[in-house]
Amino acid sequence: MNSLTPDKTPVLVTGGAGFIGSHLVDFLLDKGHKVSILDDLSTGSHGNIAHCVDNPGCGFIEGTILDSDLVDKLISGAKLVFHLAAVVGVKNVVEFPRKGIEVNVGGTENVLRSAASYKCRVVLASSSEVYGHSRDIPFKEDGDRVLGPTNIQRWSYAASKALDEHLGLTYAAEGLPVSAVRYFNAYGPRIDESGYGSVIARFMSQAFKGEKLTLYGDGNQTRSFTYVSDTVEGTYLAGTHPDAVGEVFNIGSGDETSIRDLAHEICRIIGNDPAFDFKSFEDVYGPAFQDIYRRVPSIEKARNLMGFEPVLSLRDGLEKTIEWAREHYVSANNSPG
Ligand code: UDP
Repeated sequence: MNSLTPDKTPVLVTGGAGFIGSHLVDFLLDKGHKVSILDDLSTGSHGNIAHCVDNPGCGFIEGTILDSDLVDKLISGAKLVFHLAAVVGVKNVVEFPRKGIEVNVGGTENVLRSAASYKCRVVLASSSEVYGHSRDIPFKEDGDRVLGPTNIQRWSYAASKALDEHLGLTYAAEGLPVSAVRYFNAYGPRIDESGYGSVIARFMSQAFKGEKLTLYGDGNQTRSFTYVSDTVEGTYLAGTHPDAVGEVFNIGSGDETSIRDLAHEICRIIGNDPAFDFKSFEDVYGPAFQDIYRRVPSIEKARNLMGFEPVLSLRDGLEKTIEWAREHYVSANNSPG
């Protein structure tokens, strides 16, 4: 499928007003799809999709994935569902663990049940968080998961996403075309501190205000930051490639970067002298918290089965993101912080 042959397949994107979701919506509209967005605007925003409202191929419905009648009605008109709606962000999950479990599991049950009724293809958005603090680097989709104890609420997100995958795979075994994608730290324009809550949004906001960047722990923990257009490409492949059905894929960049190096790079691009404020995890998240020390995907499976290839380096991606941030929340004097 290429942009010269528009694909008008009707698609539902749950969480389509969120950070990754809104970029996926743009991508799908560009391809010619008819797109319905379901979002409760808990962390998504009108601003993320404001530019789509005049597109006759796009419709927005404000509502929750816990509303099974609404989900059923929307899926009855779709051939493909990208299910991204969820309670996301470490801070959010730690603060509202019950809501996270109920929405992330209950919402996925609703989506899969209706998709099975209408034989609709489904992509479930999962997370690299499911690997927990496994030391088996790089993480492979069939590798073991290592989660901390249940009294540490951070792990409820990984547990809920893993349960979604289990459920999706049981539907796939019964013949429904379901795939799941495990996202690794997506970033790019529209990222914000309050919603998805990425460290990159926080550091940009702090740097633009001339504040010290807050490094949690020793700052040597690593992530594989993935530019959002690469994340979207992998998500789309998972929903359209014939070999993706019934499979789980890591969707991330292979570049491993420490949070300290990330902070330096953001200061360099913005033009600030690096200045850091170290905080303990306990001060930020309370006494019962565990961070993940290294998080790196193997993307061999996504590459071999569906031709996924992330193209943006962290440097290029940060430059684009900072350029967007400069325009959107610095010149508007409207920092999301
Ligand atoms: N982090 C940090 N300073 C901040 C926010 C986050 O050092 O102001 C660290 C956080 O402890 C984690 C990493 O940055 O080790 C990535 O955090 P984020 O919340 O973006 O996502 P995670 O990968 O933990 O889901």
